[in-house]
Amino acid sequence: MRVLVADDDSISRRVLRNLLVKWGYEPVEATDGLQAWEIMQAEDSPRLALVDWMMPGLDGPELCRRLRQSAQNDYHYIIMLTSRDSKEDLIDGMNAGADDYITKPYLTQELEVRLRVGQRIVSLQQSLQEALEIQRFQARHDPLTGLLNHGEILRILDQELQRADRQQLNLAIMMGDLDHFKKVNDTYGHVAGDAVLVEVSERIKKNLRLYDSIGRYGGEEFLLVLPGCSRDEAEIIANRIMNSVRENPVLFHDQQIPITISLGIAFNNAGAPEKIVDIIQAADTAMYQAKQNGRNRFELA
Ligand code: GH3
Ligand code: MG
Ligand code: MG
Repeated sequence: MRVLVADDDSISRRVLRNLLVKWGYEPVEATDGLQAWEIMQAEDSPRLALVDWMMPGLDGPELCRRLRQSAQNDYHYIIMLTSRDSKEDLIDGMNAGADDYITKPYLTQELEVRLRVGQRIVSLQQSLQEALEIQRFQARHDPLTGLLNHGEILRILDQELQRADRQQLNLAIMMGDLDHFKKVNDTYGHVAGDAVLVEVSERIKKNLRLYDSIGRYGGEEFLLVLPGCSRDEAEIIANRIMNSVRENPVLFHDQQIPITISLGIAFNNAGAPEKIVDIIQAADTAMYQAKQNGRNRFELA
């Protein structure tokens, strides 16, 4: 684990550096508070820090205060090192946001065990953070296809509709539904059906632009949100999606499973606020029209 050593005194830094290396840490050095602050702002900054109280520019307590006020997710565990030893100083240092406090001269064994405590807290915080991120991802994505789930794609549609309205931009949405998918399940089995859903999701995604979104709206239904997309562009994208789904049968074990998709496309009325249910209804109606007109095609609302 990397440990930031913030101290303006080069001898103190060297002593700490040698101890840290001996205990299996990777020291990262800052020669004053401002440099320490900059290092701690970086994405992948050391989470454990030994900070001198007195430093030019930004002193230890001020550095702690700044750090605790910043909106960073990553927790930095700070051990303040100081020659001050009054209780008032201890209270000031902890109030500023330090996690621990060691007075100089310190016992090296004491520093070592206090560092281990910090390391434990940092590791705990990191695993909590990771668990939270996994949970956040799962709350927004469909577990089978990895696409956005129903709630999330609707949230994005809502957001993009409002943006398009504010900025008077085009917005297209597509409702896609696999053709005769029940027959795929009946013929090849549900495991094969699942594999088709995964493969088709990938194929559709490859035709989208960076700022487009795709979600699994329902079983074999996909909702696409295409900001800034005109009618002409929507037709081109729809054709590309249909081709990529139809072009090659999906391979599942030794079986070749031919798949087609029907799409319904709807647009916002640029400038007029469009309700989310209206635009979805319009895309849905167009999609059913495509089904009625023979499937493997798209219709515009
Ligand atoms: P159409 O061309 O009119 O859309 O016919 P369809 O057979 O695709 O439509 P229908 O709505 O009758 O059937 C949809 C099928 O999708 C039924 C359901 O079992 C299947 N399905 C939905 N979700 C999943 C899934 O997660 N995995 C698998 N394997 N099948 C699914
Ligand atoms: Mg369906
Ligand atoms: Mg279907």
